[in-house]
Amino acid sequence: MSPSGTSVIVVGGGIVGLACAWFLQCRGHTVLLLDPARAAAAADAPGEGPVRSGSLAALGVLMADSFHRERGRAWDLRQRSLELWAEWRQELARRGHPIPYRSGVLLLAADGDEEERLAALGARKRALGLPLEPWDRRRLEQLEPGLPQPSLAGLHSGRDGQLDPGSALAALAADGRQRGLTVRAEAAVALRRDGGGWRVDLAGGGAERAAWVVLAAGTASGTLLKAAAEVGAGVDSGPWELEPVLGQALELELDAPLPGPWPGAVVWRGVNLVPRPDLEGGRRLWLGATLEPGRRADPDQLRELRGLGGAAPEWLEEARVVRRWQGLRPRPVGRPAPLLEQPAPGLLLAGGHYRNGILLAPASAAWVAGQIESLPTGT
Ligand SMILES: Cc1cc2nc3c(=O)[nH]c(=O)nc-3n(C[C@H](O)[C@H](O)[C@H](O)COP(=O)(O)OP(=O)(O)OC[C@H]3O[C@@H](n4cnc5c(N)ncnc54)[C@H](O)[C@@H]3O)c2cc1C
Repeated sequence: MSPSGTSVIVVGGGIVGLACAWFLQCRGHTVLLLDPARAAAAADAPGEGPVRSGSLAALGVLMADSFHRERGRAWDLRQRSLELWAEWRQELARRGHPIPYRSGVLLLAADGDEEERLAALGARKRALGLPLEPWDRRRLEQLEPGLPQPSLAGLHSGRDGQLDPGSALAALAADGRQRGLTVRAEAAVALRRDGGGWRVDLAGGGAERAAWVVLAAGTASGTLLKAAAEVGAGVDSGPWELEPVLGQALELELDAPLPGPWPGAVVWRGVNLVPRPDLEGGRRLWLGATLEPGRRADPDQLRELRGLGGAAPEWLEEARVVRRWQGLRPRPVGRPAPLLEQPAPGLLLAGGHYRNGILLAPASAAWVAGQIESLPTGT
């Protein structure tokens, strides 16, 4: 608990905004979360139809230990997040809001270069004491149903895994509300300085005020910051541009439950095959995701994904598509993801998480809380 809670407005209720709002509320701050989609997102499940926020479209694969580096900011954030997700899940389950987590990610090598890279990655991570285990071809061949081919070698990461983003959003929102978090289904349209704090103008008219504002509104965070810098609110001029990168994904129904099952989510040539043992007696599998700059979904890319570029095993080809959806990932232009910045005193940006927002949400929230608690301002 913070000794003296402050007032905070969080703009955006995707996984990053909700994680920030929940964590700040837990630490004794008074938090208002603004998101016009929160009302529509009550079911918190991906579906067909219009392009969705990244958080409602994500597959929830958390790749922290198996990240290709082992030092630097991106590595530190991943390690911190993996620890925090474990703590947060425990705390949320204790309070009646469990988030299922299926541990294990199996990375596959489809060619000789990948095989060498995976072997080197595994050796470096094992030197740090991390549980990354090499799987040889014989072991991979024993898995059922059969893996996409070629699968020359594998690297299994025991602590990485998959959590359902819909359950995570629902758990954070429900527990946050029980702790006093206020949620308004409103869009922020402008930011202004207001005494020692900030005023946020709302699309429906009216405004909200707080000592701190946290921007976690996907690509809209960049637009809000740019506009605030232009009206001279003392906001650093950036660059804050966040560009959308669209991802399409599929839910498939298999003839029979995945036997075995696989030792977690499988990654083959960058495509995630995510068993969902919790859905329809274990007969469902998520497949994704495409990487398409912009906001328009390309049917050819979806076809390529569906057939794994011609490498889909028979059982996968025969599976029935029961759902397809798409979402946008916010990617910083010309800067490494994510952007954790303070563009003006009392104004924080937690955005641009691109492909790893589900993984990085807790470490981002911890960074936000650290900024607020080390530099108290205003009211
Ligand atoms: C198909 C797909 C698969 C993915 N798979 C994974 C994965 O396996 N693992 C992983 O870690 N990541 C994955 N990601 C990436 C992840 O989804 C994103 O990094 C993450 O969702 C970013 O979260 P966010 O909260 O910053 O933004 P968003 O999810 O975009 O949320 C932003 C929110 O802000 C709201 N908003 C917008 N404008 C305003 C405004 N003016 N005022 C108030 N609110 C506003 C929106 O309604 C939205 O709810 C995937 C993404 C996609 C598209």
